[in-house]
Amino acid sequence: MRVLVTGGAGYIGSIVARQLRDRGDDVTVLDSLFRGHRSAVPDGVRFEQVDLLDLEATQHLLRAGFDGVIHLAALALVAESVAKPEMYYRGNVVSSLNLLDAMRAADVRRLVFSSTCATYGEPAVVPIGEDTPPAPVNSYGNSKLAVDRMLADEARAHGLGAVSLRYFNVAGASGDQGEDHEPETHLIPLALWAATGRTPAVSIFGTDYPTPDGTAVRDYVHVEDLGRAHLLALDRVQPARHDIINLGAGRGYSVREVIETAKAVTGIDIPVREQPRRPGDPPNLVAATTRAREQLGWEPEKTLEDMVRDAWTWFQAHPSGY
Ligand code: UDP
Repeated sequence: MRVLVTGGAGYIGSIVARQLRDRGDDVTVLDSLFRGHRSAVPDGVRFEQVDLLDLEATQHLLRAGFDGVIHLAALALVAESVAKPEMYYRGNVVSSLNLLDAMRAADVRRLVFSSTCATYGEPAVVPIGEDTPPAPVNSYGNSKLAVDRMLADEARAHGLGAVSLRYFNVAGASGDQGEDHEPETHLIPLALWAATGRTPAVSIFGTDYPTPDGTAVRDYVHVEDLGRAHLLALDRVQPARHDIINLGAGRGYSVREVIETAKAVTGIDIPVREQPRRPGDPPNLVAATTRAREQLGWEPEKTLEDMVRDAWTWFQAHPSGY
């Protein structure tokens, strides 16, 4: 298949691009390199530095001919989205609209979209099924939900086949491809940074949550398992249909449990600092996984320990990132 991966210089996109290449697809990566890394793009795939906000360049690229698009190019920092919503509506919604326009013009009719559990906000019922009414609590979630809805409308009006994959907490690395965010906000990399002494301690944001140990619970999924789901989704896209599928393990771990795992994997007694809750962090987010199993035949294979170990191996090999 000829596949375009937008955001293919990012953490998840670069690994998806490599998985597609490894199964024999003809892969092109589009990335603006605003936050992506050129050296994350695997060998053997074409690279085009294009910003989706540049409609003309996007249309030109799509005319090269593709069987499908995996769309991961996005802004993904929650706090930044709250401070600068216009940046997120432009960077996530307008850019996706441009991509859809270019796909329609070039008659590309398959799309897999990188959505998020942030579209659910702070749901009362956990595990979270895909039919939970969306109620984002930040501009990041609002911008991703707007695209999910755009895809449903596009499927109805113009026959696009699309799948929105709603990621829970993605972690781990894949060989020489790993996580290199600036700024870094995620728990597992920050725990490993504290293990190496890059930071003095890892913060625990909130110890008064209504959870068994008082810290927030999240559903972690290995980036290789997550990537595999994109390939399955691309193969199963149905014309004129938009599906929403959660990607998580269906099991939660508390912040303390994650830090304990990081201590066990690294063999280092990682210093911890207890802090107040981070605004907007819900107590408990765990995916219902039935739909992923039934519609994609997908199940995660890797454990939290695998994620932390693979991330740790990557950080040791790439102490200052890409
Ligand atoms: N968290 C934490 N310390 C950190 C970073 C995150 O305690 O340095 C907590 C955060 O409050 C959340 C969980 O760890 O409950 C996962 O946060 P992360 O930023 O990794 O992902 P999110 O769930 O926000 O997408």
